[in-house]
Amino acid sequence: DGQDSTSGHEEKIFVAVRLRPLNDRELAKNDVSDWECINNTTIIFKNTLHERSMLPTAYAFDRVFGNDSPTKQVYEEAAKKIVLSVLSGMNSTIFAYGQTSSGKTYTMTGITEYTLADIFDYISNHQERDFILKFSAMEIYNELVKDLLCSDGTPLRLLDDPERGTVVDKLTEVVLRDFNHLKELLSTCETQRQIGETTLNELSSRSHQILRLTVESEAREYVGALNSSTLTASVNFVDLAGSERASQTLSAGTRLKEGCHINRSLLTLGTVIRKLSKGRNGHIPYRDSKLTRILQSSLGGNARTAIICTMSPAHTHLEQSRNTLLFASCAK
Ligand code: ADP
Ligand code: MG
Repeated sequence: DGQDSTSGHEEKIFVAVRLRPLNDRELAKNDVSDWECINNTTIIFKNTLHERSMLPTAYAFDRVFGNDSPTKQVYEEAAKKIVLSVLSGMNSTIFAYGQTSSGKTYTMTGITEYTLADIFDYISNHQERDFILKFSAMEIYNELVKDLLCSDGTPLRLLDDPERGTVVDKLTEVVLRDFNHLKELLSTCETQRQIGETTLNELSSRSHQILRLTVESEAREYVGALNSSTLTASVNFVDLAGSERASQTLSAGTRLKEGCHINRSLLTLGTVIRKLSKGRNGHIPYRDSKLTRILQSSLGGNARTAIICTMSPAHTHLEQSRNTLLFASCAK
């Protein structure tokens, strides 16, 4: 399904899978790689020793990246066209989905940096327009939204604006000066995320991070019709909570509540994406989670979306890898 991408203004969701190399820990335990990308679009289960006959062994997506593909290539072939449409006024979202330690942050950080490098480059070559780049960063943890560029930790409210849709009230927006400024802000975000947590990985496995770049531009002189208008659009870089949280049953008390909340955002996202990928005639439940409310104007409609599903090749992660491929298959 989802073959017809030409109907109306609707854009199909671009779905890619990225396999990382086995890491030192996995190699030290003599873990083996179960998966191989046999061409640009197909990933296969190759571990015949452990083959389970009832499960599919080959999966096809818009693009698959093997463990020898650098992030630059992932950016060029799965993200660039989508994110740079922000320069012509289109909203977009790039998601990283996958279990903890599969490479979401590694992939998304690289993509964010390559995007900004290209955008600064574009701006310096297009003097006929004035550009303003605004950057903001937030985290959704336990269905609470926190500003990653502000240290006071107060949860932010979501407001419904009749013109702009859902707005994150009082979210810090910083005007980006240059590429180094972006690097500084990214390290501020990382520091903010770590506060109060034993390890970054522990928190990042439970929280969703949204980095948002808003591009405003205006022609310097009147050049007639379209080019003279002001354009505003946003691109969102979303590093999702570890997908193992969506399938894991957590014990009791706060952990349980937390698990439900994480489930809510990830499960709602899954539902929204499945419905969007099937053509959006019915009701899309954007309002069922903070994550989908915040992203609503950049997900569906005229917005462009890509999901990069990251995977460990290790046999010990087989079950999670299958779940990730299942999610990716539903998004196609
Ligand atoms: P996640 O955010 O999904 O929990 P990370 O992005 O933190 O995972 O990746 C876990 C570890 O694996 C990090 O040390 C990261 O540098 C490394 N890693 C992830 N993907 C790759 C890759 N494609 N190539 C090399 N190292 C990678
Ligand atoms: Mg991470």
